[in-house]
Amino acid sequence: MRLTLLLLSGLAFVGCQNVPITGRSQFILVDESEVVSMSASEFSKMKKLPGDKRLAKVREIGLKIVTAARRDDKAGVLPPSSKWEFAIIDDKTPNAFAMPGGKIGFNTGMFQYAPTDDDIAVILGHEVAHVICRHGSERVSQVVGVAIAAAVADEATKNSSAKTRASWMAAVGIGAQYGILLPFSRSHESEADHLGLLFMARAGFNPEAAPAFWGRFAKAGSKTPEFLSTHPSDSTRVKQLQSWLPEAKAQMPKQP
Ligand SMILES: [Zn+2]
Repeated sequence: MRLTLLLLSGLAFVGCQNVPITGRSQFILVDESEVVSMSASEFSKMKKLPGDKRLAKVREIGLKIVTAARRDDKAGVLPPSSKWEFAIIDDKTPNAFAMPGGKIGFNTGMFQYAPTDDDIAVILGHEVAHVICRHGSERVSQVVGVAIAAAVADEATKNSSAKTRASWMAAVGIGAQYGILLPFSRSHESEADHLGLLFMARAGFNPEAAPAFWGRFAKAGSKTPEFLSTHPSDSTRVKQLQSWLPEAKAQMPKQP
């Protein structure tokens, strides 16, 4: 049902856009507002801890990051500060996420890997970067694209043998999962690492915490859906972050 909605809205919203900073062009096939409302509905179902003392800290750091990211938000993707919603999620899995529309979740299991403000800024910088780059909509668009191709293939092979049909379906990737919390691709992860590093530095946090955090996190062998899905290999990730440090440091606010 959801998929049908996305398909219908997709037809009206086909378009190419560019990612901020990297300038990579992306293909968005879905109505952003549809993705936002699906995200809000997922977020509302999560087990939150509104009384957790660490919530104020996460919110404060998150809003600083959003303010810093806004400079590159030429397309107006990021919601205004007042619209952002922050939550500590009662989940021991070390994970965090930011959804289109401005919902940020930080699992209780993440804190042990992020003892300092700089560490929390590494994580939130990465997540806000996913949002400003519209990686969620792009990912959903890929899935919708697959679904359209499958529907076309299904029609085209109606009178073919079962075997031909099966191979057609395999070729268009039937069996791909549908949903909004699919893992991001490797290139999305690198893009989020890069932009996230710039945002945290701009917000006044120490970007050197980023390669240190990811190195530590990888060593702990944490397996989480967002963080270690199809991410760049750990050593590549740390090396890339180190290579972006001079660019990030140049964006840090000048000390008075
Ligand atoms: Zn990510």
